[in-house]
Amino acid sequence: MTTSPAATFEGVLPSRLTPADRGQIERRVQEIGRGLLERALTAEPTAASSEWWVQQAAEWATQDDDLKVRLFRLVDCMPMLDDPAALDRHVREYVDDDVIARLPRSLRLAFQAARSGFLAPLAARAIRAATLAQARRFIAGGNPAEAAQAALAQRRHHRGFTLDLLGEAVTSEAEADAYAAAYTDLLRELPRIAAGWSADPLVDDGPTGPLPRVNVSLKLSALDSQFDAIDPHGTTDRVLERLRPIWRLARANGAQVHVDMESHVTKDLALAIFRAIAMEDEFRDWPHCGIVVQCYLREALRDLESLAQWARHRGTPVWIRLVKGAYWDYETVHARAAGWPVPVWQEKWRTDACFEAATTFLLEHADTLRPALGSHNLRSLAHGMAVAEHLGVDRRAVEMQMLHGMGDPEKDAVTAAGWRLRIYMPYGQLVPGMAYLVRRLLENSSNDSFLRAGFVKHVPPATLLAPPRPAAAVVAPAAPAAADDGGFANEPLADFALESSRRAFAEAIDRAAADFARGPVEVPVVIDGRRSASAGRFSRHDPSDLRRHVAEVSAASPADAVRAVDLCRSATPAWAAAGWHRRADILDRAAEIMRRRRWELAAIEVFEVGKPWREADADVAEAIDFCRYYAASARLLAAPCRVDVPGEENATAWLPRGTSVVIAPWNFPLAILAGMTTAALVAGNPVVMKPAEQSSLVALRLHEILLEAGVPPAALAFLPGRGEEVGPSLVSHPDTALVAFTGSRAVGLAINADAARASAAAGSRVVKRVIAEMGGKNAIVVDDDADLDEAVVAVVHSAFGFQGQKCSACSRVIVLDRVHDAFVGRLAAAVHSLRVGPAVEPGTRVGPLVDQEARDRVRSFIEIGLRSARPLAAVEVGPLADRGWFVGPHVFGDVDPDGPLGQEEIFGPVLAVLRARDFAHAIDLANGTAYALTAGVFSRSPSHLELAARQLAAGNVYLNRGITGALVHRQPFGGYRMSGIGSKTGGPDSLQQFLLRRTVTENTLRRGFAPAAPHDAGVATRG
Ligand SMILES: Cc1cc2nc3c(=O)[nH]c(=O)nc-3n(C[C@H](O)[C@H](O)[C@H](O)COP(=O)(O)OP(=O)(O)OC[C@H]3O[C@@H](n4cnc5c(N)ncnc54)[C@H](O)[C@@H]3O)c2cc1C
Repeated sequence: MTTSPAATFEGVLPSRLTPADRGQIERRVQEIGRGLLERALTAEPTAASSEWWVQQAAEWATQDDDLKVRLFRLVDCMPMLDDPAALDRHVREYVDDDVIARLPRSLRLAFQAARSGFLAPLAARAIRAATLAQARRFIAGGNPAEAAQAALAQRRHHRGFTLDLLGEAVTSEAEADAYAAAYTDLLRELPRIAAGWSADPLVDDGPTGPLPRVNVSLKLSALDSQFDAIDPHGTTDRVLERLRPIWRLARANGAQVHVDMESHVTKDLALAIFRAIAMEDEFRDWPHCGIVVQCYLREALRDLESLAQWARHRGTPVWIRLVKGAYWDYETVHARAAGWPVPVWQEKWRTDACFEAATTFLLEHADTLRPALGSHNLRSLAHGMAVAEHLGVDRRAVEMQMLHGMGDPEKDAVTAAGWRLRIYMPYGQLVPGMAYLVRRLLENSSNDSFLRAGFVKHVPPATLLAPPRPAAAVVAPAAPAAADDGGFANEPLADFALESSRRAFAEAIDRAAADFARGPVEVPVVIDGRRSASAGRFSRHDPSDLRRHVAEVSAASPADAVRAVDLCRSATPAWAAAGWHRRADILDRAAEIMRRRRWELAAIEVFEVGKPWREADADVAEAIDFCRYYAASARLLAAPCRVDVPGEENATAWLPRGTSVVIAPWNFPLAILAGMTTAALVAGNPVVMKPAEQSSLVALRLHEILLEAGVPPAALAFLPGRGEEVGPSLVSHPDTALVAFTGSRAVGLAINADAARASAAAGSRVVKRVIAEMGGKNAIVVDDDADLDEAVVAVVHSAFGFQGQKCSACSRVIVLDRVHDAFVGRLAAAVHSLRVGPAVEPGTRVGPLVDQEARDRVRSFIEIGLRSARPLAAVEVGPLADRGWFVGPHVFGDVDPDGPLGQEEIFGPVLAVLRARDFAHAIDLANGTAYALTAGVFSRSPSHLELAARQLAAGNVYLNRGITGALVHRQPFGGYRMSGIGSKTGGPDSLQQFLLRRTVTENTLRRGFAPAAPHDAGVATRG
C-alpha cells in the first residue's frame, strides 16, 4: 500500500479538495510532469553548462564522503588563495596521494600535475581558476551593472528575475549600512533601466495588473549586526529602520521586495518583522512584497496557516515563495549538538509531501497569499500546476521560481508550458559566493536530490514523478554515536528563539526585581543547618544599577571557619558511609530542583553579577550538568577494582579524602561552585562552601538546593564572607584535607603555599590536596586563509562575552600579516557595534563589570593601552558609567607581546591584537606567556590545524571555533603552567582528584586450599 501525501498531511490544513479531486489532480500531475521531463531531458546539459560541472563534481563526491569533505573544503577556501605558495600548499594538503587515487580520471590528471614537477604551480592555478569560474556561473555578475545585464538576458528567455546581493556575514553596523545602501542603489538605478525594456506578457502580467519588472530578494539578518531572536523588539526596531527606506524606494519605483529565509533560529523573528512592516500604514495596501516559507521545517504548515489569517486581516495579498530549504545539514547538526529538537523533517519524502500540502494550501488561498513555487523538482512543480488548474487559479497569480545557473533545461520546459518562471540571481563578490556554491554542491550531492536523480542517475520518469511516500527501506539518519558516559547528556541551553523561553525568563526577572524592590535578601552563615547573622556584614548591589540593593551578606569570621571544619570532620564517617549510590541520587535530585528553578536562578545572576541573559542561562545549565555528570561518574566508581588470583584477592577502592574546602569565584557563580562542591560531596567528603563575596546570594540558593536534595546539614557548611578573612583559617585548619579553588593566579598560588605550610606544620596528619584552576592569557590565532566571517564573530564572542570576565576569555588575537588589516578593520567595526547595557535587557551583549575594583583595574589596563599601543576600538559607555560598573570594550593594536597587555590577565573587555609574520611565529606568540588555559586557531589549512593541535600550549585547544563555553563531558576544562595544577573539571578523571585509593589484599589460602578465584574456577593450590 502506498502512502499518499494527502494521507500524511491531509487534515493538517483545511482544504476543499475531496479524495476524488485528489485522484484527478494526481493523474494530471503525471501528464504535466511527463511533458516537463520529456522536454527537459531532451536538452541534457552539456559539459559547457554550469550544472553539468556541478552535477559531475557532486556525483564524484557522493561516491565517497571523505572525498566530498576534502573537495568542498578546498573549494570553500579557493578565493583566499591568491598567493601561489599558499595555493600550492592547500592543494597538496587537501588532495594527497590517497585522494588522487580515488578521483575520476579527468580530475586525477590535473591534481597529479598540481602536486608534482615544474608544472605544479601552473596546474594549481588552473584548478583555482576553474573552481572560481564554476562559482561565477552561479553568480549573475560581480556588480549591479553586470547583474542588470544578466537579468535582461533572462527576460530574453521570457523569464523574470529576482536579484540577491551576496554578502559576507554582517558583523558590524557599518556592514549593515553598506548592505542596505547596495539595495538602495540597485532600486534607484534598475527600475529606470527596466522601464526601457520591451514588455513580455508571460513575465509581466499579474492578476490585477502589471507586475514589477524589478524584483529583489534580501536577508533581514544582514540589516542588523546584532540580529538576535533573544531581543525581538530591539532587533525589529533596528531592522525596520534600514528596511523601511528600501521598501519605500521599491514602492516608489515600482519594484518588488522579497524576504529570504535563513536558519530556523531566525525564522519566527523574520516572519514577525515582515508582518510588522507590511502592516505599517504606508505599506499595508502594497501587494509587491513577499517572504519565503521553507517546507523542510516541521512548522511550515502552521506558519502558512497563520500567515493566511494575517494576510486576510491585512487586506492586501503578499507573495509566498515556497521552497524546501537550503540549510538542512546545518539545521540537523546544529540542533543535535545543542540538544534541541531537530526542526527539519528527517526523511526527504516528508519534505516533498509538506511542499505539496503547502502548495495546495497556497493555491486555495491565492487571493491572499500569492504562490511562488521555488523548486527544481519537476514533480513538485507539476503538482503545483495541476492543483492550480484544478482550482481554476489565474495563472498570472502564480509563478514558478528556480535558481540561476542550475537546471537550465527545466527552465525552458516550464516556460514552454506557459507558466511564468522567475530566476533567483545572486550577484556580488566571490568570497561569499563560495558559501553559496558549497550550498549548491551539497544540495546536488545529496542522494535525495531531484536534479541528481533526474539528470545524473537517469532515474526513470515514473519514479521521479511518483507522489512523495516513504522509500521501500527508509534509511534512518545516523544517530550521534553513543559515548561511554553513563547515560549523561548535556542540559540543552535555552532556545531563545522560542517565545516561551523569552517570556519565562522575562517573568523571572520581573519577579526577582520585585523581590529586590521590597528589600535586599539576607544571606546568612549556615553551619549544621543553622543560619546565623554575623556582626561583619556587607552589601551587594546590582552592578548594572547600583541603586538596586540585592543582598545583605553576613561575613563569616575565622571562628566560623574553624567551627565549620570541626563540624565537617565529625560528619565525615556518616557521609562516607552513605555510599556512592545514595550520594549520586542526591546529586540527581539537586539537578532536578535546579532544572525546576532554572529561570529563577538565572535571574538572580543577572542582578547579582551582571550576567547577560544567555550567559546566565548557560551557567545554570552547566551547574545541572555538573550534578548529573558527577552522579553518573560516581556510579561508575562505586565498584572496587578487583584483581584476584588463586589464593589472593585484591580489591582497590576509592576513599573520600575528608573535609574539603571549596573556594569559588563569582564569574560562573553557580556552575563552578556547584561543580567543585558536588564533586567533593559525591566522593564522600563533607564540604565547607566559601562562595565569592560578589555572588553570595546565588550560592545560598545552591546550598539550599543541595540540602533539599538530601545532603545532611552537617556535611555542608555555607560560609559567605571575605576571602582574605576566612580563607587562611579554612585552608590551614589541620582537618582540612582538600582545597578546591578557582580564581586568580595570585590567590591560587597563595592557597597552594598556605596548604603546603600547614601540611608541614607540627602535628599535621595530612598532606593537603590542592586543586587550583587559575587564570589565562588566552590567544586566538587567525591564519591567512581563515574564514574571516567566522573568525570575527568568534573572537568578538570569546573576548567580550560576559565582559571578558571568564578565565577562558580571548585576550589576545594573533593575526597573520597578510590578513591583518582586513581582519582588524572588521573586528574594530564589530566591536563598535556591540550593545553595551544593563544585563536585564535581552539585547545587551556587554554588561557591567562585577564591581568597582574590577572596573578600576580594567581602566588601568586601558590607560596602559592608550599609552603604549594603538587603540583600534574604544567604546564609550556614556551615562551608563554613572549607573553601574560599566567599561566599554577596547581593542588595541601594535601591542608589545612582552608588555602588560600582552602578558597579564586583565579579566575585562580589553583585547590585544598581535601581528605574526607566519604561522610558526603566531604559535610562538600564542605560547609566549606563563599561562596555558585555552587557545584557538582559525585556519583552513589541514597542516596548520594539525600543528596548532600539537603545539598550542593550553589545556583546551579549539580549532575553528570560539574558545569559551566548554561543556561538561565534551570539553573537560582546565589548564596547566600558571593556569592551574593540570586537573580538569567535568572530565572522566575529575572525581578521582577528590579521592584516595586504597587496596586491600587478602591471602585466601588456608591449610592448602583456597576458594576458586573468579574467572579461574577450579585452580588447585599446591600443597
Ligand atoms: C527561487 C528560489 C529561492 C530560494 N530561496 C531560499 C531561501 O530563502 N531560503 C532557503 O532556505 N532556501 C531557498 N532556496 C533554496 C532551496 O531551498 C533549495 O534549492 C531547494 O530546497 C532544493 O529543493 P528542490 O525542490 O529543488 O529539490 P529536491 O531535490 O526535490 O529537494 C531537496 C530538498 O529536500 C531536502 N532534503 C534532503 N534530504 C532530506 C531528508 N533526509 N529529509 C528531509 N528533507 C531532505 C533538502 O534539504 C532540500 O530542501 C530557494 C530556491 C529557489 C529556487
